[in-house]
Amino acid sequence: MQERSAREVWRAVLGRLQLQLPQTTFDQFLRDSRAVSFDDSHFVVEVPTTFAVAWLERRMYRDIQLTLEQLAKHAVGLSFRVANGLAVPEVPAPETPAGLPPGPEPVHAAANDPLSRTTPGFTFNPKYTFDSYVVGPSNRMAYSAAQAVADAPGQGYNPLFLYSGVGLGKTHLLYAIGRSCVNRGLSVLYVTSEQFTNEFISAIRSQTTEEFRYRYRSVQVLLIDDVQFMSGKEQTKESFFHTFNDLHNSGRQMVITSDRPPNALALLEDRLRSRFEWGLIADIQPPNLETRMAILSAKADELHVTLDDAILELIAKRVQRNVRELEGSLNRLVAYSQLMDCPITPKLASTVLDELVAGTDRHAIDPQRIIDAVSGYFKVSTDEILGKRRTKKIAQARQVAMYLLMYELEMSPTQVGRLLGGRDHSTVIHGAGKINGEINEDPILRQDVLTVKEAIFT
Ligand code: ADP
Ligand code: MG
Repeated sequence: MQERSAREVWRAVLGRLQLQLPQTTFDQFLRDSRAVSFDDSHFVVEVPTTFAVAWLERRMYRDIQLTLEQLAKHAVGLSFRVANGLAVPEVPAPETPAGLPPGPEPVHAAANDPLSRTTPGFTFNPKYTFDSYVVGPSNRMAYSAAQAVADAPGQGYNPLFLYSGVGLGKTHLLYAIGRSCVNRGLSVLYVTSEQFTNEFISAIRSQTTEEFRYRYRSVQVLLIDDVQFMSGKEQTKESFFHTFNDLHNSGRQMVITSDRPPNALALLEDRLRSRFEWGLIADIQPPNLETRMAILSAKADELHVTLDDAILELIAKRVQRNVRELEGSLNRLVAYSQLMDCPITPKLASTVLDELVAGTDRHAIDPQRIIDAVSGYFKVSTDEILGKRRTKKIAQARQVAMYLLMYELEMSPTQVGRLLGGRDHSTVIHGAGKINGEINEDPILRQDVLTVKEAIFT
């Protein structure tokens, strides 16, 4: 194949990867990549740094190769190398999903139609708006997608699927979309998947499934929060599937949130999952230090308190897991200082945060849960983690398990060694220490470990 078609093929691959990977990861490793040749059996890609080469080989090789093979319809070899000249960025323009049904019907005042309105008694918390959402590299893609949906519901990304760990702002964005659509006179329905399930069950009991159907299918914008809770409930899923199809076919907007990406919703049926994948999937990653500080500063403004950067930094460094905890820590600190009538000093902040950390009982977590989470995330079986094989992938997963067991559960190296297939305590110290050092150097590993932690502690 000629150079030109190599570039086209790569553009298609990038389009796909951009939707799969966190924005920051994509930006860091792929945005400036360039396909330089494709002779039908071998594909060569140039990236700006050796780190990017290493990362792509380590994490993405098989995925990219598979995608290339799907496009070429035969086996393809793949190599990455560092570009010597200036890389030409090849970022695909966001694709407009083809074949979407027309947008929503002309706006009609929601209040005039008793069945097509927001959930009775439900108001979107006015705190959760686009304006009050702090944007950083970890959530920019989700934020832009949410705004695009609010600006033109049913016309672009449909459904929009937002996913992240707990407390990273999914509900906030969902409300922001909801409010903005309601303000423009659209009929909006917000439900958690639990509400959907309960309403459906009671509709069956009271033989009012027609009303149920109508209620859900007559709205212009349907927002479903925490869809992971719908897993495993057959009839509800069936009903949800039909609702989804009807709404989609008539160009109504749907926004769905979940704490798992669609392909991790193992219990949701394939056909549901693949429907989600028609639209746009946007993830939210844990915010970096800078964004955490910006969020804290915004939340402090809301509380009408002014905090020094040093205090903001202190909190942001200590609380990393999610924004809800970050906010909780700040609230607690402010409440404490007001109650005791003392200024917020670094010392006070430290003391209050210490109490908070002590309050979460880490020992209550079952070590097996850590092993399972590591195994699931790194796609290495428990047997392999406990076993003797030392391929790079297995060894790394094993070391991450050591690290989490030691540093998060505060187990002794001897206990960890025993748990992980009878290893020596010095092996555990070495393995855990290695990860502890590397997470500060390798942003991908840091992200991997954070994701696993999130899965364990939430
Ligand atoms: P999730 O639904 O993902 O569990 P929420 O939307 O409930 O998370 O967010 C938890 C809290 O954190 C909310 O108070 C929300 O306002 C806040 N929050 C999360 N992300 C941000 C952000 N980027 N900017 C401002 N506040 C945020
Ligand atoms: Mg939520």
